[in-house]
Amino acid sequence: MSYDQRYSGKIYDVAVIGAGITGSMTAYKLAKYKLSVIVLEKGSDIASGATKANSAIVHAGFDAVPGALKGKLNADGCRQIKEISEKLNVHYDNCGSLVCAFGEADERHLDLLYSRGIANGVEGMRIIRGDELFELEPQLSRECTAALFAPTAGIVCPWGLCIAVCEAAAVNGADFLFSYEAKKVEQRGGYLEINGDDTPIRARYIVNASGLGADLLVENDISPDGEEEPLRLNPRRGEYMLLDTSEGGVAKHTLFVCPSEKGKGILVSPTVHGNVIVGPNAHEVDCRDNTTTTPEGIDEISAGARRLIPHINLRAAITQFAGVRPTPTTKAKDFVIKTSKRFPTLLHAAGIDSPGLACGPAVADYIVGKLGEMGLPLLPNPDFSDSRPPSPCFKAMSDEEKAAAIKENPAFGRIICRCETVTEAEIVDAITRPVGARDLDGVKRRVRAGMGRCQGGFCSPRVTAILSRLLHKDMYDITKKGEGSEILSRPDDRD
Ligand SMILES: Cc1cc2nc3c(=O)[nH]c(=O)nc-3n(C[C@H](O)[C@H](O)[C@H](O)COP(=O)(O)OP(=O)(O)OC[C@H]3O[C@@H](n4cnc5c(N)ncnc54)[C@H](O)[C@@H]3O)c2cc1C
Repeated sequence: MSYDQRYSGKIYDVAVIGAGITGSMTAYKLAKYKLSVIVLEKGSDIASGATKANSAIVHAGFDAVPGALKGKLNADGCRQIKEISEKLNVHYDNCGSLVCAFGEADERHLDLLYSRGIANGVEGMRIIRGDELFELEPQLSRECTAALFAPTAGIVCPWGLCIAVCEAAAVNGADFLFSYEAKKVEQRGGYLEINGDDTPIRARYIVNASGLGADLLVENDISPDGEEEPLRLNPRRGEYMLLDTSEGGVAKHTLFVCPSEKGKGILVSPTVHGNVIVGPNAHEVDCRDNTTTTPEGIDEISAGARRLIPHINLRAAITQFAGVRPTPTTKAKDFVIKTSKRFPTLLHAAGIDSPGLACGPAVADYIVGKLGEMGLPLLPNPDFSDSRPPSPCFKAMSDEEKAAAIKENPAFGRIICRCETVTEAEIVDAITRPVGARDLDGVKRRVRAGMGRCQGGFCSPRVTAILSRLLHKDMYDITKKGEGSEILSRPDDRD
């Protein structure tokens, strides 16, 4: 049966457009009800937009103005991410965060953030200074005069979280269609029809969680409260450097400077995989998919990182990358989760910029609540299983466990990625799981093959061969991240 027949012959209860944190979490939350759900994603995998390239901070919730959706949802999202990560085995660390003040003006800002945090329901915050501060963060600049400590903040693997909840949604019956760009929505009697490149998809309700594409799905269709103009999204790029695990420990918490009108500023933070992340800056770009890095940008984030940790070893950078924020043109700069002006069963989730990752589960609850108000019957699914199949991690096994695993499955004895110690058995699992990997980046995000110091130089050909074997595809058709990113060129293409 072709994909077309499988998906187009059915009227789904809900179609979710976009498999970033907003769409993935929405699919997961909807799986708890007796509903048929399909997720449509333009990219070749889960988390192809802003969710794949951000700071990965689970913000505590003190930044947003109380009363704004961001303020209402952040602390709950932060709490839920911890819970979901434990339940679904996602890399998460409750490392806490410090907003660092450099002088009196900054310290007044800490007071403001503290009072916002209290109003937004953030627990355990304290303003600390002196010995207590430098004991917590020994390498922090001695120019730092005080800091707002938020012990509930954390770090997470953003795509790991999305993959986990999508797998759980799939286990409970949700369908996923990748490399599908929703281009048009039309009302057809009792349902909406989405038209993409080929297959029309029918659904009674649609959630538009398409990130930077959200204002383009239906033209001029999103009216934010208190604004005359329809919502537009401006792409605002943030550049990063990722430091090798040899630098792990240089920052024990997520270290922020005081925020400005441009955002939360350049941070230094540990990552859940033991690296250190430095960035982002914030600059408007002309194109929504402009994720290039620039020498000026890297200089800017380097200077920002040295302000926090003067002796940070930036020569240990193993890669640079950039993500693009969907910054709304509204005055409030808040999330805009609103029913379409044109289609009463289409819900837009737009302008989901930072802290959209941290808010993810709470945004999804809000979306499900809105769908209920719009008439979607929310009957609990008695068969809902809040789990996903376990995934093996060879690196984390004891010597005895490793020996037993190899005895049972010799593919555990074949190391494919040397930097991250990833075995063939784990790569096979990543490809054959529910919503499994279909390309090199998909394997990389699921098991970290290619994430290490050599950035895939050694393992990419081997992973390509495994993908080719398991997907029954020619090696020439294996891609890095979907069509147009083929790894090998055919001999007759080389003329
Ligand atoms: C530089 C930077 C740093 C950030 N740091 C943090 C942080 O530390 N903590 C935090 O909480 N938040 C952070 N954020 C914000 C966070 O990343 C976003 O709020 C969040 O990822 C948005 O998720 P989303 O699912 O709404 O959008 P996206 O992740 O962009 O997902 C939208 C998906 O829709 C797909 N799509 C688009 N158009 C279509 C279409 N027509 N048809 C089908 N699919 C489509 C895209 O391919 C994409 O996969 C940061 C953002 C950036 C850019």
